Amino acid sequence: MTAPGDDPLRTAEQGSAEPRSPLVKWHEGHLPREERWRALGQRGATVWFTGLPASGKSTIAAELERSLVQDGRVAYLLDGDNVRHGLSGDLGFDRAGRSENVRRVGHVARFFADAGAVAVVSLVSPFREDRWWVRALHAAAELPFVEVHADTPLEECRRRDPKGLYARSHAGGLPDMTGDGSPYQPPLQPEVRVRTAEEPVADAVARLRRAVDETGPATA
Ligand code: ADP
Repeated sequence: MTAPGDDPLRTAEQGSAEPRSPLVKWHEGHLPREERWRALGQRGATVWFTGLPASGKSTIAAELERSLVQDGRVAYLLDGDNVRHGLSGDLGFDRAGRSENVRRVGHVARFFADAGAVAVVSLVSPFREDRWWVRALHAAAELPFVEVHADTPLEECRRRDPKGLYARSHAGGLPDMTGDGSPYQPPLQPEVRVRTAEEPVADAVARLRRAVDETGPATA
């Protein structure tokens, strides 16, 4: 059994250069992760979808969440639009706002994963450096991190445009639109790449289930 002092999340947090409020200490009474996971019969992980708007992140992420939950796994979708209601509702879409959004959602996902859930994140997260930061956050806490690139050509995303964002951007009403006014940096070595113009959603979900399974057995 892990000794309380060896809890990786706490160790990562104590050694972190992340900002913290004055006069706060990491809570010492923390339940060791292995003990929690064993009691719950669950193991945590984060699956992080990145890609252009309309590339298919949310569609596949929602189906992955459904598939995991139907099999008795605790999984929760942190969707890019939803996290901007409340948690990141004060942020803009400029570089600083996007990085801060990734930072916040990265921390939330890490807590979920530590709790034993599969955090399924669907976020454009256009900057490589920001995604590396979330990966490092999970690595420091010894938590699995699966980066998924919804790899869809820009022209196909423009054609789909389910939220009308590309049309609005084209009309000049969305200056920070990723893929138009704002850059997208694709991952160089994602754990999973889904070419959504070629692969049906169900096939992608089946591959992703295998990728989640490879992070460890479903039960602790
Ligand atoms: P994002 O979350 O990346 O902005 P959405 O999932 O909201 O993208 O929208 C993607 C659109 O593309 C949806 O209308 C979806 O039905 C469609 N689509 C078509 N083929 C696929 C596929 N193979 N995988 C994912 N989405 C697809």
